[in-house]
Amino acid sequence: MKKIALLGSTGSIGTQTLEVVREQGDIQVVAMAAGKNIRLLEQQVREFQPKLVSVWEEKDASALRESLRDMEVQVVYGMEGLLEVAVVPEAEILVTAIVGMLGIRPTIAAIEAGKNIALANKETLVTAGHLIMPLAAEKGVSILPVDSEHSAIFQSLNGEKNNRIHKILLTASGGPFRGKKREELINVQVEDALKHPNWSMGRKITIDSATLVNKGLEVMEAKWLFNVELEQIQVVVHPQSVIHSMVEYEDGAVIAQLGTPDMRLPIQYALYYPNRRNLSGEKLDFYQLSNLTFEEPDIETFTGLKLAFQAMKQGGNIPTVYNAANERAVALFLNRKISFLEIPEIINACMENSKYVKHPNVEEILATEAETYAFIESRW
Ligand code: NDP
Repeated sequence: MKKIALLGSTGSIGTQTLEVVREQGDIQVVAMAAGKNIRLLEQQVREFQPKLVSVWEEKDASALRESLRDMEVQVVYGMEGLLEVAVVPEAEILVTAIVGMLGIRPTIAAIEAGKNIALANKETLVTAGHLIMPLAAEKGVSILPVDSEHSAIFQSLNGEKNNRIHKILLTASGGPFRGKKREELINVQVEDALKHPNWSMGRKITIDSATLVNKGLEVMEAKWLFNVELEQIQVVVHPQSVIHSMVEYEDGAVIAQLGTPDMRLPIQYALYYPNRRNLSGEKLDFYQLSNLTFEEPDIETFTGLKLAFQAMKQGGNIPTVYNAANERAVALFLNRKISFLEIPEIINACMENSKYVKHPNVEEILATEAETYAFIESRW
């Protein structure tokens, strides 16, 4: 039995991780954490029987303790609870499927405790990649990507250890507004932005896909995961989402991973790496794949992607500013307080008004996050 701990069990990646666990039957979830959805968490605890669970608020922990009093499970809460789940001794892998910078401290704690990380929570690497990657190397733990594009790159690197990467070709669906110009995006509503053409995901990442900020975050994630220069990463819009990303080697050979858009595949690959397992559901039918197309991203309309390259070039705490500004701006958009086009405008304003820190530690990253939030609060 492989033993795992799971942060964000009630979310889109979390529930799909549990689908893989259910289907495979030889993984034990020893600890799990969620935020506020204690109804679903209770069902998950009854089905998967972890020994430890965590929620965000104390009152939810009390309510959950009460409703699970017939079971032997310890219920904890808050950041301390997340940290406990992250380092639970029995688990060999921690799946980080929570959203946002909240994942930084638990991820670092798990690496320090020698756990391999199945990493979905890209915001952690975007903001603290300069701390996490060297720490993982020092502790000899693997960071196994769950993001479908990064899993594709990871799979395309198999067996190529001594060969130099020339370029990473990071594919993007282009989101629901692909092909549209700025004037056409002025009045888009939350509902329009939440209609992703190919993938079904959490709300925040779906908006990030519509602005192309998600691709920007993925560029930064790829840089850290695969230790390449920013100039070696090229974003390619591929609306059919069949090729999940590619690696070009020095000799011009391009290796790609293809598949149906199903997050269970990269999740399962991370959990069983380097082995593959059967996965239920549709497989690609090449007789139906008559039209795979590719185009350049429109970074003048989707300026969030341009800003990501700029943030990564500046380095230091600027990727944190980019990420924190985006998190807050997306929340404001989802609450209908700002328009769609204001999301990158807010990111830009925050980047221009931030105090530069060259090599931020965790406290400085979290302070940058707080300062960015305060700046947005004062202006919007
Ligand atoms: P969701 O919004 O669907 O889920 C987020 C999870 O985090 C939920 O379980 C939520 O709990 C939990 N959470 C939120 N706040 C807290 C908190 N304060 N304490 C503990 N848990 C908390 O997000 P996704 O699953 O879509 O995304 C998760 C991560 O994976 C993100 O970093 C995203 O960028 C990345 N990712 C997602 C993909 C996808 O297909 N969805 C693809 C690739 C990467 P609750 O609901 O109980 O409040």
